[in-house]
Amino acid sequence: MTGKQFFVLGEVREGHIHSVTFELTGKARELADSCGGTVTTILLSGGLADDPEVLLRSGADRVMTVEHPVLSMYNQEAEVKVLAHLLRQEGPDVVLAPATTSGRTTLPALAAELETGLTADCTGLEMDRETGLLLQTRPAIGGNVMATIKTPVCRPQMATVRPRTFRAPDRSDALSGGKVVRPEIPPELFGSRVVNLGFERGEDGGSNIQDLDVVVSGGKGLKRPESFRMLEELAALLGGGVGASRPAVEAKWMGYPHQVGLSGKVVAPKVYIAAGISGAVQHLAGMQTAGYVVAVNRDPDASIFRVADLGLCGDLFDILPRLTERIRKEVGAE
Ligand SMILES: Cc1cc2nc3c(=O)[nH]c(=O)nc-3n(C[C@H](O)[C@H](O)[C@H](O)COP(=O)(O)OP(=O)(O)OC[C@H]3O[C@@H](n4cnc5c(N)ncnc54)[C@H](O)[C@@H]3O)c2cc1C
Repeated sequence: MTGKQFFVLGEVREGHIHSVTFELTGKARELADSCGGTVTTILLSGGLADDPEVLLRSGADRVMTVEHPVLSMYNQEAEVKVLAHLLRQEGPDVVLAPATTSGRTTLPALAAELETGLTADCTGLEMDRETGLLLQTRPAIGGNVMATIKTPVCRPQMATVRPRTFRAPDRSDALSGGKVVRPEIPPELFGSRVVNLGFERGEDGGSNIQDLDVVVSGGKGLKRPESFRMLEELAALLGGGVGASRPAVEAKWMGYPHQVGLSGKVVAPKVYIAAGISGAVQHLAGMQTAGYVVAVNRDPDASIFRVADLGLCGDLFDILPRLTERIRKEVGAE
């Protein structure tokens, strides 16, 4: 392959290609297009239930799949060996991977194996026109500054990105003209000292706000846990879920799975309603890719209004019940 090579380490869960793979493949496509490069997405799995060709409609020039039973459940040791082998063989310039639990565990070990750097949890990625280096932007010093990191010497330049940080591209009807390849892997690389004893699903409080089209979030301005019922009511009418700022979670008004932001989840719903949330950078880091933002705050200078498409300035205890009633009438719900 000619030009700069961008590799995406995709994620497969229980045979299915996770959405973050499409988000990162789309981003890699954008970066590659800015410098005439190519995109390869690697999928390691115990067996694929999805057709990997779908990634050729989402920006990949090539998809590499490796299927082996040892890769069916989280096995960092085998993953690192297989990935290091492929990356050494291919010599990409840039490697993007998801900052999921699995990516966060595998990537530091992979970077150490390849003797290169790794920028974790990037919120922005760009190519520097002058140097051709990857500009890896992420919050630093407690989220108070945005640091842009370069990897000038070692290769590949590696970065992880949390799910929903970038939008997945619309799938084109046409294939890219690329292909799905199944590289030969030396069998000894699948050997591992890791034995998986079982797999238990974590308690997520019944809500995966990352997958919803509407998220109604509340912050310190809600004043007490009972006020979250208003948000639950509004969210239910809109077919969405409830999010919360960190102080609301720390006050135990909502559980941690609902936290949106730098130290919580990144959400990208079509509509994000923020009530009684000031709009600190650490909160914005978790919802900046939302499609349409509605902010309810009594402080006209609240930072949240700077990112809002619709700002409702006033007391949320007055506005939210009226908004809910209005929507109830519109949707004809009892
Ligand atoms: C390393 C680090 C990580 C962090 N991670 C996160 C994170 O993941 N998520 C996160 O949210 N924060 C995070 N924070 C905290 C962040 O800096 C802010 O402190 C937090 O987002 C503020 O939460 P808030 O908006 O609910 O509260 P506040 O900033 O106190 O804002 C409350 C808002 O409610 C409004 N209000 C009050 N009463 C009413 C009313 N009756 N009607 C209408 N409006 C009203 C006020 O005008 C105000 O704007 C992090 C901080 C650090 C240092």
